[in-house]
Amino acid sequence: MATHQAPTLDGLQTLLATVQRNERALKRFQDMELALIGAPDFGQFLEVVLNRLRFDFDLAGVRLMLAEVDDTLRDLLDSADGSRALGGGLCIAEDAGTFEAVRGDGKLWIGTPRERHAALFGGRPPASAVVMPLARNGRWLGVLALGSRDGKRFAPDMATDFLERFGAVAAVCLENMWNRERLKRIGLTDPLTGLSNRRYFDQRLREEVVRGKRYGAPLVCLLIDIDHFKRVNDTHGHATGDRALRAASVCMRQQLRVTDTLARYGGEEFAALLVQTEEGWATTVAERVRRAVARLNVLDDAGLRVPLTISIGLAGVDPRDCGDLDDLPGRLLGAADRALYQAKRSGRDRVVVTPQAALRMTLPLEDRL
Ligand code: GH3
Ligand code: MG
Ligand code: MG
Repeated sequence: MATHQAPTLDGLQTLLATVQRNERALKRFQDMELALIGAPDFGQFLEVVLNRLRFDFDLAGVRLMLAEVDDTLRDLLDSADGSRALGGGLCIAEDAGTFEAVRGDGKLWIGTPRERHAALFGGRPPASAVVMPLARNGRWLGVLALGSRDGKRFAPDMATDFLERFGAVAAVCLENMWNRERLKRIGLTDPLTGLSNRRYFDQRLREEVVRGKRYGAPLVCLLIDIDHFKRVNDTHGHATGDRALRAASVCMRQQLRVTDTLARYGGEEFAALLVQTEEGWATTVAERVRRAVARLNVLDDAGLRVPLTISIGLAGVDPRDCGDLDDLPGRLLGAADRALYQAKRSGRDRVVVTPQAALRMTLPLEDRL
């Protein structure tokens, strides 16, 4: 017959202490989850994950490894100054193999870091760690790892339900952030060419004018229009016209730096914004773009080559030379548009530059003094 043993006072006290500790831990996790859910953008998300978590949980380090690099992620990093976090706790898996090794079987892992975690911690692994793979709807988003200098802090026999819940919340937040950024991109991207659209370009131009003024960086705007494109459609058909637009987009994008913006500004018209660029160098770049497009080998459905040429209007400005910035984007675009008109009138397939001096002449009188 089983005897019923009354709990000792010590036993009760231990139990009470455990309950209280658990309650405090739960509260801390809940606070952190609320902070994550409330993060309005990727920058804040990183702040909570990489800094607040480390501080509030007294950890040696927190690492977030993101699984894949696509345009959305690149934009997220840009928009959030995330590139600053790179290295400081944030890293991107170099390849699928590295990521697979780190995430293991996809279950939460706890204990002394193994060799397969090396890509996560670099050369200085913590004494103990918990590695949480983050997935949503069957898609791997990344891995979140918490490290401690205390070898016993994260031990394999520990209860992991709080941690697992936290990982799940972090994954949802990360996915939301991703989706939000993707939606934003859809609204700012031209579906035919995949380039930025006019709305994005205008926004960028306004930002770059302000930045150029603050840091003293000149910028150049190119307006690019395909010559006699109506004829391309009439002769080779609309589908070939679409293909030509895509081929020209890829080709022009390749001639520019990643920091330059290239947008489809209208039907067969494109706009490029070259930052930290002097007029002289931009003219060389514009010539390069023009020649590259002329060399393209676009074929129509019958296999006939479709000759393509472009005309480019170029205008540059140093925002420091200008007082009021409000109408500078408009004036810069206007100057590039006049140059483009000249290029068309003087025979097409050429680059025409509006000298900066001419742009300055359109400034209000007080700015010219
Ligand atoms: P110019 O050298 O003076 O620029 O002559 P152009 O024929 O290029 O100029 P125009 O403005 O007369 O015609 C532009 C043409 O671009 C007409 C339009 O059908 C075509 N276009 C605009 N958007 C698209 C598109 O998305 N796909 C295709 N296939 N054609 C387009
Ligand atoms: Mg045209
Ligand atoms: Mg046009």
